Amino acid sequence: MVQAYLISTGTELLLGSTLDTNSIYLSKSLEELGIKVIGKSVVGDNPEAIEMAIKVGLTVADVVITTGGLGPTLDDLTKEIACQVAGVELKLIPAEERKLREYFERRHRPMPEINLKQAMFPPQASIIPNHYGTAPGMYLPLDNKVIICMPGPPRETEPMYEKYVKDMLSQAYNLSNRRVASRIIRVLGPGESQVEEMLGDIINQAKDYHLALLAQEGEISIRLIAEGNDYDDSVRIVDRVTEQIEHIMGKSVFGYDDDTLSSVVGNLLSSRGVSLAVAESCTGGLLGKMITDIPGSSRYFWGGVITYSNEAKQEILGVKSETLDKYGAVSRETALAMAKGVKGMAGTDMGVAITGIAGPDGGSREKPVGLVYIAVVGDNLEQVREMHFVGSRDAIRTLSAKSALDLLRLQLI
Ligand code: AMP
Ligand code: MG
Repeated sequence: MVQAYLISTGTELLLGSTLDTNSIYLSKSLEELGIKVIGKSVVGDNPEAIEMAIKVGLTVADVVITTGGLGPTLDDLTKEIACQVAGVELKLIPAEERKLREYFERRHRPMPEINLKQAMFPPQASIIPNHYGTAPGMYLPLDNKVIICMPGPPRETEPMYEKYVKDMLSQAYNLSNRRVASRIIRVLGPGESQVEEMLGDIINQAKDYHLALLAQEGEISIRLIAEGNDYDDSVRIVDRVTEQIEHIMGKSVFGYDDDTLSSVVGNLLSSRGVSLAVAESCTGGLLGKMITDIPGSSRYFWGGVITYSNEAKQEILGVKSETLDKYGAVSRETALAMAKGVKGMAGTDMGVAITGIAGPDGGSREKPVGLVYIAVVGDNLEQVREMHFVGSRDAIRTLSAKSALDLLRLQLI
């Protein structure tokens, strides 16, 4: 497998003011392309550090990819140092100079002479166009290695990779003929170790495939990678193992690859022609946010109300004061009354409600932090689920909203 080493440059990345998202984006994209990232460095705008990182990269990997440091200022040095390490010289490229001058003319701004360094490349390099900034990228083939320099701002890096670098790498290393096929199988419900236990045989018997589990925000992603005799064979293996996993995990499999709970629930609501309204207490609108993350959700989503106080629950949703007094705001009965209330008010087919204790305060022995009730009602349906979450306020709210989506999904399938 072709191996890559990533280098993110920029002092801001070391100060904690900017998060190095480029290497994360590239790791994911390269993996999809069939290139394995075997290491990465984050270095400041410091010539020695950049040089050392490039040398390490060239020692351990086939492809070294840098981001950042292609700007016009004195501390932007990555391309220059890469050329120095490679032993090649930079020359002013007239076509690039023209483009640069035009760029400034269109903006009616004089071009500082210092910008000319962005038009300098070694003759053996391919210059990679930058449609979102002045710094072009560089693809520099060496004897049996490649150095690629890309700009730092993600809105320049990402389109440059997508439009040019991906194809350049794919051609250079013949990656379109790759054999590997993969799928992510998304699960909600059981925990990570439980999933691992359930999949024991499938994991142990793995020969021509590989499984990796990742737990995130209550969801488990099962990444399945197969390497058969050719691509079609790999796809057959992926299909076969997916079926085995589905058989074992049952309804807790909610989606694949780029699916999210919201997109899956959205598809179900829209294909069944079911409309939805939500009433939220402890999640403060998070459920509505997740539902409306999906473009076009207005087809099935009426909207929601945040009824945080008892008064709001009473006045907006018509929850009876006796219900609140007798059972409390966080109770099976209140959740149900909230869901019925919002469904009635909105005139939708379904209503969902969440009420719980997100903490860190406000818990008691009978009703500890993390106790959450989720209700789903339909024309012939009333269901309440009691959940006991553990974690920060943020985590409890996220898990509550996701559980509500999941409860809805289970009702719709
Ligand atoms: P540069 O090309 O070094 O001038 O980078 C310009 C800007 O891009 C920086 O100020 C950062 O905001 C952003 N940037 C640079 N490197 C990264 C990175 N690895 N991940 C995310 N943003 C970055
Ligand atoms: Mg910089």
